Amino acid sequence: MAVQQDDLFKKIVSHCKEYGFIYPSSEIYDGLSAVYDYGPNGVELKNNIKTYWWKSMVQMHDHIVGLDAAIFMHPKTWKASGHVDAFNDPLIDNKDSKKRYRADVLIEDAIEKIMAKADKEVEKAKIKFADQFDENLYRSTNARVVEYINKAKTFQDRLAQAMTANDMEALRSIIVDLEVVCPDSGSRNWTEVRQFNLMFNTQLGNIAGEEGKLYLRPETAQGIFVNFLNVSKTTRQKIPFGIAQIGKAFRNEIVARQFIFRMREFEQMEMQYFVKPGTELEAYEYWKSSRMKWHQALGTPASKLKFHNHENLAHYANAAVDIQFEFPFGFKELEGIHSRTDFDLKAHQELSGKKLQYFDPEQNQNYIPYVVETSIGCDRMFLAMLSNAYTEENIPDAEGTDATRIVLKLHPCLAPVKCAVLPLVKNKPELVEKARKVYDELKFSFQCSYDDKDAIGRRYRRQDAVGTPYCVTIDFDSLTDDTVTVRDRDSLLQERVHISTLSQIIQQKIDWKQLF
Ligand code: ATP
Repeated sequence: MAVQQDDLFKKIVSHCKEYGFIYPSSEIYDGLSAVYDYGPNGVELKNNIKTYWWKSMVQMHDHIVGLDAAIFMHPKTWKASGHVDAFNDPLIDNKDSKKRYRADVLIEDAIEKIMAKADKEVEKAKIKFADQFDENLYRSTNARVVEYINKAKTFQDRLAQAMTANDMEALRSIIVDLEVVCPDSGSRNWTEVRQFNLMFNTQLGNIAGEEGKLYLRPETAQGIFVNFLNVSKTTRQKIPFGIAQIGKAFRNEIVARQFIFRMREFEQMEMQYFVKPGTELEAYEYWKSSRMKWHQALGTPASKLKFHNHENLAHYANAAVDIQFEFPFGFKELEGIHSRTDFDLKAHQELSGKKLQYFDPEQNQNYIPYVVETSIGCDRMFLAMLSNAYTEENIPDAEGTDATRIVLKLHPCLAPVKCAVLPLVKNKPELVEKARKVYDELKFSFQCSYDDKDAIGRRYRRQDAVGTPYCVTIDFDSLTDDTVTVRDRDSLLQERVHISTLSQIIQQKIDWKQLF
């Protein structure tokens, strides 16, 4: 049963709440905008995502080591990194609705609409000309399509120029020329465009004023750069080598919509790979393909993932690409891979006065390494996995008639619960006792759950809804021959197996090795 994309997003949000994946933060006080809490199933899924990332980046790479830096850092860190002066988003308000928007996002959305018009024309022609249709030829010759594409391109170029030049007036004129209307009020009554710094700040102890001003880190990467010397000395790693870190980041996002896609407090999984200058683009290509493979290994269809090259590179980058995922609201950034040159280390060296260099024994020379970074939001990955897994299906129920089930087809390695142990009925103490025994044994090795409430069919549905790969049912035969039925979440096949083999069966299904 295909779920409509518009509906899918709403369904995922309510499913997350109903099944203990994600709750709005401090909900009893009506929540806090763009801040969320992970519930009992959510924390398991999130931990599994982090484990997969950590295993593949740190454990499986001889040349990458881990780090857990503090959230608070010396304020000069953010001066050197450029965040104090330039970590801004352009904002614009609509005077009628009083709603606030990111100017660049309004423009991008309007450009996307123009491109959608071109695509619509192409789709119509595809149907009309059927087999004889040559899409490339049509796109480059049909007057209307060419006009749409050119128009979109012109505005894309103007946007890139305005963003690079930090030209707020130019951004406003693009909004005016594109005749963008406020999605809420429908009016074109816009304010000026202003810069807005996204860093949260707080005050250190009893030091008043600017001196005591601390920032909540807006990215984890800087904790890695300032520890470059410590890590390279203590681990004796030779270049190329990487430092990986998972941790919280904070951004005062102007428009915080789309659930956990854009949060004000979120978690990043970042790795900085330090290389010899001149070899960075080779490393960049390696990480591009390695990270794409990481996503595909989970079973995410290739059609839902794509590379998106950055149109306007940040001043410090010499290559940058996003891995986009097809969320229910379209293809959006899931991960960024950036070749950041020596910008960060150099800036920290200048401001701290400490040499952040590497002595290359092969070259017999010192240099500041170049950096290729991979940066993925753990929460966005969570949303991507849920969007991919959420399925509504018709299946035959116990009586053989059609029933609907919601099932999360998560990769078994990511599933919050690996196995549910269910006595067939609850009012037979010997069944309950046997089931408890099986559960108590399995829980040493796996995240398991025990459930004896309601009819067995309803219990299966509850496990499907959280993506549990296996349900183990203890029935009357189990009491005499020590066998149980194992139900597979996806195929629905039920197999009779000996209790002593359960652990091995589950282990095989959730073995991390299959992902590498
Ligand atoms: P966007 O363009 O969507 O604002 P970005 O380019 O600013 O993202 P980066 O600074 O490259 O993002 O951060 C790396 C990753 O961190 C992103 O690919 C994304 O997965 C995640 N991320 C960034 N901002 C947020 C946020 N507000 N909420 C959740 N995840 C985020």
